[in-house]
Amino acid sequence: MARDPLDRYWMILGGEAEARYLTSKQTMMDVDLRSDTETLWAIHSSAAPSKKSQGEVSLLDLKAELAGRMLSDCTMCERSCHANRACGEAGHCGVLDTRISSEFLHMGEEPELVPSHTIFFSGCTFDCVYCQNYDISTNPVSGMMIPPDLLSKAIEKRAMNDAGKVHQLNLPAASKNVNWVGGDPTSNLAFILRTLSECDVNLPQVWNSNMYLTERTLELLDGAIDVYLTDFKYGNDICAKRLSGIDRYMEVTQRNHQIARAQAEMIIRHLVLPSHLECCTRPILTWIAKNLKEVKVNVMGQYRPAHRAQGFKDISRSIRVSEYESALRIAEELELDLCA
Ligand code: SF4
Repeated sequence: MARDPLDRYWMILGGEAEARYLTSKQTMMDVDLRSDTETLWAIHSSAAPSKKSQGEVSLLDLKAELAGRMLSDCTMCERSCHANRACGEAGHCGVLDTRISSEFLHMGEEPELVPSHTIFFSGCTFDCVYCQNYDISTNPVSGMMIPPDLLSKAIEKRAMNDAGKVHQLNLPAASKNVNWVGGDPTSNLAFILRTLSECDVNLPQVWNSNMYLTERTLELLDGAIDVYLTDFKYGNDICAKRLSGIDRYMEVTQRNHQIARAQAEMIIRHLVLPSHLECCTRPILTWIAKNLKEVKVNVMGQYRPAHRAQGFKDISRSIRVSEYESALRIAEELELDLCA
């Protein structure tokens, strides 16, 4: 029988495996966090999550320290602004202090993920002209500042509603995972790792992202994230530049999908854009079939012309039923494993 692409995810939910961040939290190391950054990266590169008990610093603490240092010369995403965000210098995304626009139990995600404790960050590393969440992605100073220790309590509380009480009191069901999203979570890497350092609940961590991260950011996520929920948008660099203001889209996202898949489990989302079946949908799905065939794919048909989309003729309308059906047909012909 074929292996379930989310095998480990289900094992964590069944209590038979541990969320990766918990293992990193219990991997104790003999390291001085006041050491210079190069030394800390060298120690991090040779560390493996193993629940060793020597030392007073956990691998998760080391990750959080390195992410915190990246704020002084930000290269969390491939825009590589080198902004000193720690001193109030905004980079392209504009994110300084982490702001949370909302956190709730999302029932509209993939069936495998609901109820999903989604934590939406303000701000984004992309400038998508059709952004469906533009109210938060284009306003990095909107939302609330919630300290990591308080957010960790919310995460634990959302995970604890027991089934009996849910039914009797009409409460929402307990969360199956924590879903870090935005905008995009990348600019908030340091905050997320600090929050996980405060958590103890055995819940899968989901990185819901445009995947425009640097390799360094991916290194820090290795051992903290259980499922990458990726948003694969374009099948060529020209559409990516024109509609999201992004350079080197194909090189970066294809590289990152492969790195992320080697680290953890994955669900790939593709939002079908009107008039972009041949330039984007087909090449993306073909690439997945060739390189990541075993992952689950969600071909999404809910595009609507939001934000500035009316200024771009090709995407100024919703997708036609026939376009969505064609996208599904391509995925089926390629024998992709589609989400239910
Ligand atoms: S996360 Fe923001 S500041 Fe950092 S490199 Fe990316 S766009 Fe620039």
